[in-house]
Amino acid sequence: MSAHPAHHPPGLVSDFRLLIDGEAATGPSTLDVINPATGQMFARCPAAGRQELDRAVSAARRAFRGWRDTSYADRAARIGRFCESMRDQQDELAYLLTLEQGKPLKQAKDEIARAASQSEGLTRIPIQPQVLEDSDERRIELQFFPLGVTGIITPWNAPINLAAGPLTSALYTGNTVVLKPSPYTPLCTLKLGELAREHFPAGVVNVLAGGDDLGRWITEHSGIDKIAFTGSVEAGKAVMASAAKTLKRVTLELGGNDAAIVLDDVDPRAIAPKLFFASFVNSGQVCMAIKRTYAHERVYAALCEALAAEARKAKVGNGLEPDTQLGPIQNREQYDRLVGILDDTKRSGARILAGGEVPRGEGYFFPPTIVADIDEDSRLVREEQFGPIIPVLKFSDDEDALRRANDTRYGLSGSVWSRDPERAAALASRLEVGTAWVNHHRATSALVPFGGAKESGIGRVYSEMGLKAYLEPRVVSVLKGTL
Ligand code: NAD
Repeated sequence: MSAHPAHHPPGLVSDFRLLIDGEAATGPSTLDVINPATGQMFARCPAAGRQELDRAVSAARRAFRGWRDTSYADRAARIGRFCESMRDQQDELAYLLTLEQGKPLKQAKDEIARAASQSEGLTRIPIQPQVLEDSDERRIELQFFPLGVTGIITPWNAPINLAAGPLTSALYTGNTVVLKPSPYTPLCTLKLGELAREHFPAGVVNVLAGGDDLGRWITEHSGIDKIAFTGSVEAGKAVMASAAKTLKRVTLELGGNDAAIVLDDVDPRAIAPKLFFASFVNSGQVCMAIKRTYAHERVYAALCEALAAEARKAKVGNGLEPDTQLGPIQNREQYDRLVGILDDTKRSGARILAGGEVPRGEGYFFPPTIVADIDEDSRLVREEQFGPIIPVLKFSDDEDALRRANDTRYGLSGSVWSRDPERAAALASRLEVGTAWVNHHRATSALVPFGGAKESGIGRVYSEMGLKAYLEPRVVSVLKGTL
């Protein structure tokens, strides 16, 4: 594990500014940004206070008056140009994303490409009024109008992609935006603000870096009409409670504890690489990563061994190194939490098949760890670990596997794996989740709603359903004939 290269592209790790009312701005304090591959601070950016938030909200309210009256086609064209500029800057943004977030450079590039293509995909979804009745007596139409100012709050695991979805959804539907990234990964989002400045009228997009306090002020602010929040269940509950005071609309994309159920007819060696990738990509720091694997007793031992073999050969390291497959844990707090879960797992007497020894040295590195024969009530099974350590649990009866997969307060997604897709789909249709996959895990599209059941969230992102969460329905009922 070597240190990151000393030379950054010029200008890349300095000159960060907030975006308020179309102007680059500073704030009353700063955030130190740490490279998780070294544990060292490598950049500093301004952080907003209440005053900057007030200015951003006022600007967004003013800009809303003009923006809401532009056409969908005009807004789609501007978003398209914004996406093009993201692609033009893909290499620089990816480099910065790897520095602040830790993920391998290739995956950072993929994240940017996905953010651009999903955004464009959203703007190809038509939003039309619906005619509910058109009879001799009356015409009833269901129309949709934008809510106003959207506060977007994002986490640190995929800062560009998780900003792009709500940002595009809000803008395309005619809303204006105040966007706040995680204090751990503010830099790429501030760069997105720089790009947005060129493509949208002043005040339509405002970007403020800041900590959890700034997030709370956004949820309380009387000038904000909707919150699009992506983050943990605990913070999501606080967001909803706070938003209730002004009856803000909320879309909550929260944590998950996804189960993969592996049936008795699979070839364990053939599916192990797919399961491994869906569990460990971004070092497991993915809301919809597989976080529990239930394997039928007939394939259990072979699957455990095949997953352990994948873990042993995975290359962990600095995301800037070309052969790195798994980067570091993004921040110290999350790293310490994972070490706590690992210690608890070891104490419980579970079998650790691969990984399990956290290296000393710089950076927040954690080896991919496969755990077998673990108690169902352990922290690793009950909690969202959000990191590269996965329990593999045994079952003998499909109904029992389904019951255990559903025995959680989370309900983001899940998957069932079998040679017989119909058999697997029948079981998948009984998972209490927002998305159930068969023979794959972790796929999203601009056209397909994504979001959580139970405590994994409220509402959906992407698709017409997701876009309509940024719109208020209005019934216009016209009695025909003269009075
Ligand atoms: P977090 O909840 O700690 O923070 C997320 C964001 O919320 C940050 O910007 C933070 O500053 C802000 N925040 C924190 N407390 C707040 C409050 N009380 N009011 C307003 N804002 C507040 O989450 P995290 O640790 O950054 O991210 C990891 C979590 O996000 C995991 O649980 C993961 O599963 C979840 N996540 C969900 C999705 C999804 O689409 N469902 C996607 C990615 C991540």
